[in-house]
Amino acid sequence: MTDNTIGFDKVDSYGLKDISAKDIQNNLFLSIKKNEDHKTIVSVDCGSKKDVVQIGGDELVIMAGPCAVTTEEELMLTAQNAKKHGAKMLRGGAYKPLTFPHKDPSKREEGLKILRKAGDKYGLPVVTEVMDTREVELVGKYADMLQIGARNMSNFSLLKEVGEFGKPVLLKRHMGLSLRDWLGAAEHILKAGNNNVVLCERGISVPHTHDPNARFIMDVQVIPAAKYFTHLPVIADPSHSTFNRKLVAPMARAAISAGADGLIIDVTQIPEKDPVDPLQGLSYESFGKLMSELNIIAGAIGRKL
Ligand code: PEP
Ligand code: MN
Repeated sequence: MTDNTIGFDKVDSYGLKDISAKDIQNNLFLSIKKNEDHKTIVSVDCGSKKDVVQIGGDELVIMAGPCAVTTEEELMLTAQNAKKHGAKMLRGGAYKPLTFPHKDPSKREEGLKILRKAGDKYGLPVVTEVMDTREVELVGKYADMLQIGARNMSNFSLLKEVGEFGKPVLLKRHMGLSLRDWLGAAEHILKAGNNNVVLCERGISVPHTHDPNARFIMDVQVIPAAKYFTHLPVIADPSHSTFNRKLVAPMARAAISAGADGLIIDVTQIPEKDPVDPLQGLSYESFGKLMSELNIIAGAIGRKL
């Protein structure tokens, strides 16, 4: 055992082959817990208001909003409803990693401006994706937290850039990469001098699932496994991991039960009409129902919503 590990004996008994004792010592020493009580609480500002939200403490942080920003009117209504039901942050994509390049519903900088306006109006810090090193400055001007999408988890120059930029980072796990790779990606941000990193499980690709149309499946197990190794907060995305609104609430409840520090959920006015990912968004009403259920679960596991 060395000072900066949680004990090799425990790692071995945990039974994970993915992360070795050598990794803990040589490769992952910034993201690995120094002891069992070691946890980082990531503080997020809301525009000029400081420390509005803390991620990784007793209180769960639910981020809600559209997959892609559409109109100001709709985003304002969504922010209002998200706030009403207890969301602590506003999500929304202006720069979208689309599977096919032929549609671009996002309004880019206009989308960022609308997000900022809605976030400020409702006191909800804004999390939004940055896809490219050339956009960090621009997205960082409007966002309170920079999201690294699943597909960019191993874009090391982007990780370094957001690390140096300094605003909190939401690091999504790639759909095909391991916990070791994910922590390795976090290590790049930490090494660049930014300790405000939150990990997000967003579903993995597996060959056999319950449904031939399923793209991803939420790796609920990775939540306690990640929290066993790292001091960083871990949240989950039940929307992108299920791609199916009927499965969002059950997986949201499962993720919180498994120890997630929060969730990021697609919520919009008319989810079926969303220009991106119309199968997975929740209506305001369904989101409200889910939040009441999560409140009960939070109480049962000694946390707050
Ligand atoms: C998103 O949250 O908008 C998104 C594109 O997610 P992911 O990177 O997990 O696919
Ligand atoms: Mn999406």
